[in-house]
This record gives sequence, C-alpha cells and structure tokens, in this order.
Amino acid sequence: MSGPPLDDCFAHDPKRMPAGEALALLRQRVRPVVGEETVPLTEAHGRILAETVISERDVPAFDNVAVDGFAFAHGDLCPERPTRLRLLEGRAAAGHPFPGRLPEGAALRVLTGAPLPAGADTVLMQEDAELAGEAVVIPPGVRRGANRRRAGEDIRRGQAVLQVGQRLRPQDVGIAASLGRARLRVFLPPRVALFSTGDELAEPGAGLPTGATYDANRTILQGLLDALGCRVTDLGILPDRADAVGLALERAAAAHDAVITSGGASRGDEDHVVRAVERQGRLHFWQIAVKPGRPLALGQLGRAVFIGLPGNPVAAVVCFLRFARPVLTMLGGGRWPEPRAFLVPASFVMKKKPGRREYLRARLARGADGRLWAEKILREGSGILTSLAEADGLVELAEDTMSVAHGDLVEFVPFSEFGLVT
Ligand code: AMP
Ligand code: MG
Repeated sequence: MSGPPLDDCFAHDPKRMPAGEALALLRQRVRPVVGEETVPLTEAHGRILAETVISERDVPAFDNVAVDGFAFAHGDLCPERPTRLRLLEGRAAAGHPFPGRLPEGAALRVLTGAPLPAGADTVLMQEDAELAGEAVVIPPGVRRGANRRRAGEDIRRGQAVLQVGQRLRPQDVGIAASLGRARLRVFLPPRVALFSTGDELAEPGAGLPTGATYDANRTILQGLLDALGCRVTDLGILPDRADAVGLALERAAAAHDAVITSGGASRGDEDHVVRAVERQGRLHFWQIAVKPGRPLALGQLGRAVFIGLPGNPVAAVVCFLRFARPVLTMLGGGRWPEPRAFLVPASFVMKKKPGRREYLRARLARGADGRLWAEKILREGSGILTSLAEADGLVELAEDTMSVAHGDLVEFVPFSEFGLVT
C-alpha cells in the first residue's frame, strides 16, 4: 500500500492535534467545578453521586427463605431414603418470623422472604414435598442450605457500594434504598450557556428570508445537554459581529460553568468566536484532526470552560458527543464516560485519509449470516441532519486506517453509549 498523499493536510499540519491526544489531555485536566446538594432518592435518578456510600448493615439483614416450602435441619435427613419430618403448627412468612426454634426431626411451613427459623438451615420447595397427614416427606438428595438466602449475600456491612462520580441509574438508587438511605449527596448540575452564531440563522417559527437557514443546532444541543443533566440557559443566536460576540461570551462566562457555541469558529472573515476567546480568555486547542469536526475549539473564558462546536449540524453533534459530553460530565463531578465500541463487520468499502480520526454515521442491519453488520449511511455531507436520524451510532475509524474492506471488523459505538436512548 502506498503512503499518505503529499497534499494530505491532516497528516502534515502540525497545528492539528490528534483526537486521542486531545481526549487524553481533557481527561487529565478537567476538574469538577460544581457544588453539592443532598436530595431525596426520587430526585437522585440520573444525578452524579458526590459521596461514597458505605453499607452500615448486611443486606439481606438475616438468613431468609427463597421459595414457598418447608424448612428443616439438613442433619435430620437420611441420605439414602425419603425422610418423614413432623410438621409443626404455625408458619413463618415475610415480615412474620416464627417465634420458636425447630426441634429435632421437625419441619415448618415457610413462605418466600420469611426469616429462616432458628434450628433450620435448608428449605424444600413445596412442589417437591409430599404431605402425609401431620408429616412432610423429604426426598433424598436435597443439598444442605438449599433455597436459603444468606445474610449479607447481596451487600456486606462496611462495603462501599456506590462511588463518587458515578451517574445514578435506577438500580443504583435502588441499592441506596435497600440500605435504608432516604437521601443522597449529589453534585449540582453544571450551568451551561448555549449560543448559536451566524447572520444566516433564523428562529424556527419565524419567516425564512432569502439566504437564511433555520437554527437546528440549538434545539439538538439543548436536548443533548438536558439528557446530560445540565442546567441550560438558551441565549439565542449571535450575529457575525465581533463586538456582539465578545460581549455576549463575556457575560455568559461570568454566570455559567461552561459556554457552548456552534458555528463561527473557523478563521474566516465572519468567524468571530475563536478570536473573541483568544482576546478575552485562553484557547487551549482549536483544530483537532477529526472528521467531521473541523473546527472544534476548547478554551477558558474566566472561570468558565468554552466549547466552540462546528456549525454544520452533523459535525456539531459528533463533536458534542465525543468531546463536549465527557468534558461536561467531568465538570459536573462525573467520571470520564469513555464510549464502548463493539466490533462489527462492515457492509461497506471505503478509502480514508490517514492522520485523522473519522466518525461515520452507521446503521446496524442483520445480514444473511444472522450477524449485525454496520451499514454506512450514504448521504454523508456534514450538513445532512437526516443522516443522523437514520443512524444507530457511529463507526470510529482510527488515524492509521486507510481503507475499509467488506467484512472488516470496525468499531461501532451505539448512540446509547453516548447516553442517547430512544
Ligand atoms: P460556520 O461554522 O459558522 O461557518 O457554519 C458552517 C455551516 O453550518 C454553514 O452552512 C452554516 O449555515 C451552518 N450552520 C451554522 N450554525 C447552524 C445552526 N445553528 N443550525 C443549522 N445550521 C447551522
Ligand atoms: Mg457562521
């Protein structure tokens, strides 16, 4: 295979930072900036935990019964023959322990969730038992401890069950409840200022002058930020004017943890965003070797993090998911959410320039072989928003990949890995 063509701007432009390097830097450098609050469990879903939760007790708190049946001491059984055990009067049920102790040679009727009666260590499912008057017949071969749930088999006293920085899913909040916790300490949501930029942009609902385009980015980004648990201030559309852009960014930065723009981030005559950040703050990096993506800017405006996304809607979304989302998660106290890629065969062929990372919009389709294959969405322009709606996720092609052949295994990242669930 031949080397990279000489005119490859990505391979030869030292200003363009490799995507992996940019991600590693962000992962190292970004720190939580938000405060904390204590909330009831019903408000904890989806929030980022700000404490380590250590269990003060065993869960379950006592040995208990896993099925409806009969409890007895395994030592009372004959190993080779069925054993008749005297059935005691009464029973143990969930929330209603048996007050006494099982005498030798006796069994007790028990229901699921009941504390295992003292003197018993084994439970036979009622379907497997034979009732004979005042007795119950236990077949041979029952294992000691069958159908017994041990105290602490789920969680041990002293165990750290939930960690600082994890985003709480319903099952995580459920664990807190199972420990008896009614409230959890969580991070406050990051406050994010959101702008679109461009003289050509019109608000949906308004008329569309000649040469204008409806602002789609702000709607998408608002949804993505909401899903991430950010508190968004929608600051509308900025005109392509240096003074207006500079003033608006400065004001927004003073009252937010992060400022996000889309568009206007190139070096064109009417691209004022990056120049304003350089003037008023610091631009950490600007050009990343990623497609779609150019230009993507990351910097600092006062105490706020600045993220300048590309204007083209598809590029804005891809850059948000891959770069902005982890940054905002970390600002909000969370751990870096590295999206997991699944290896699937490609049902397409393509050539690729080396030196940059590429994200393809792709759909999963079941092949004749029964496997899921990654199908590339055909209309690839980074302004073609419907291509994102048709996709199930992104195929990530590494910098050194130069081609994909039919059947090659490629890294497919489902949108759900970016927190986008249907
Ligand atoms: P820019 O990065 O400002 O040069 O914008 C690149 C392309 O994206 C242009 O065609 C813009 O019209 C388009 N664009 C920028 N912002 C938006 C937006 N908020 N909604 C839809 N298209 C946009
Ligand atoms: Mg523009």
